[in-house]
Amino acid sequence: MEIEEFRQHGKEMVDYICDYLKNIKSLRVRPLVEPGYLKNLLPKEAPEEPEEWDAIMHDVKTKIMMGVTHWQHPRFHAYFPAGNSFPSILGDMLSDAIGCIGFSWDSSPACTELEMIVLDWFGRAIGLPDDFILSSKGSTGGGVLQSSASDCVLLTMLVARNEAINYLKTIKTKKPELEHSVFLSQLVGYCSKESHSCVEKAAKILLIKLRILEPDDNGSLRGETLKAHIEEDKAQGLLPFFVSAILGSTASCSFDNLTEMGVVCKEEKCCWLHVDAAYAGSAFICPELKYLLKGIEFADSFNVNPNKWLLVNFDCSCLWIRNKTKLTDALTVNPIYLQHAKEEEAIDYRHWGIPLSRRFRSLKLWFVFRKYGLSGLRSYIRNHIKLARYFEKLVKQDGRFEVVNDVRLGLVCFRLLACDKINVNLLEKINSTGKLLVTPAKVKNKFVIRFCVNSERATKADIDCAWEIIGNYAKLVATNLLS
Ligand code: PLP
Repeated sequence: MEIEEFRQHGKEMVDYICDYLKNIKSLRVRPLVEPGYLKNLLPKEAPEEPEEWDAIMHDVKTKIMMGVTHWQHPRFHAYFPAGNSFPSILGDMLSDAIGCIGFSWDSSPACTELEMIVLDWFGRAIGLPDDFILSSKGSTGGGVLQSSASDCVLLTMLVARNEAINYLKTIKTKKPELEHSVFLSQLVGYCSKESHSCVEKAAKILLIKLRILEPDDNGSLRGETLKAHIEEDKAQGLLPFFVSAILGSTASCSFDNLTEMGVVCKEEKCCWLHVDAAYAGSAFICPELKYLLKGIEFADSFNVNPNKWLLVNFDCSCLWIRNKTKLTDALTVNPIYLQHAKEEEAIDYRHWGIPLSRRFRSLKLWFVFRKYGLSGLRSYIRNHIKLARYFEKLVKQDGRFEVVNDVRLGLVCFRLLACDKINVNLLEKINSTGKLLVTPAKVKNKFVIRFCVNSERATKADIDCAWEIIGNYAKLVATNLLS
């Protein structure tokens, strides 16, 4: 494709995107297709000869779009928000056009430096301690972009594992000659049952024992539970080396007791405290919600996904580390083909993560911060919380239902006052309409329906509409039961 052809089709694509998003309300939220639908519509082999752009776009409109779930639909209430906004789309567009691979400062200085600056902006806006802010005086840490919260958790567990093994080798056993793997079986990590499954996955990848602990009745992991298990493991000769706390759990948006857990971790010789706030973390830019971050002074690392709740599209996951040397100690390898003259004075983000190649991801975050301002982003978050509370009120006013979680942010977990089977039935009926999409979870051992306020421009009318659909299907489920 030549430049003038790109100019033309680029403009057409922007028109197509605008029309898609303008009319998205009229589409089914979830498509009506079965597994394998697309292979019946597309050829088995890649085309040998170049094709016309119009033919490609024709297939997008008639074959691809019919299998798309519309995450930006105003009645997409499933999972957590898939962050998106026009400034973010434009940021990614520019990043794709620049097309640099910013693995070191030298490979594209602006790519590294904007990331450093934007992570500091965001860290400060959230209220992270100064140690996490790269440019703060005397700071030991800093922030970096990763692809996902799962990557952040894996990475911090890996760094903590490196720390713990060095501790066992050199301090505890004084046998630096032994291989790292000799010590693996002595390590044990902890998280709550409410934690995201990515913690378990990280432990699997890193060959680590993980204790998944019972939270209290509010879904909050408490210090005494953690302490009891740590003591039990130490009595078995194990080294508690990693704790992952959750702020804003996936199932019910519950919050671990970070302060209590932090105190317990501090009593240990070498125990890393990570905080996963993938969804909730963006809300901490609002002063009235910073109380949810209490205990952060104990944390060694913290992650949040602006690609969930800060209007930035996937992928954009922020990780801050209190001590960046621990990160680079675990990850640095430095072949000659990647070295450069400014290594001593610059940050090379390739030592801050698993992949070598890195996109210019900070552009979209920077565009969003600048176009909305923190005030605009706070309004967006507050609107979602206000609408979630409104939905909670509607549910509570209806004697057939109960709300099962403490609604502090944008997520409401509710259920019919009936057995799990009936609630499963209700969820399936609602989703099959295509008018609304919600997802399930288990909260307090009960099947619940999660209703998350997701859309950037969500309104009270959208919530009313969703509630009307849910109410109608609740009636239907009840009638079927009686007949
Ligand atoms: N942590 C929490 C609290 C989450 O809710 C999620 C996903 O929803 C994750 C981690 C995993 O996120 P990612 O898809 O970025 O790996």
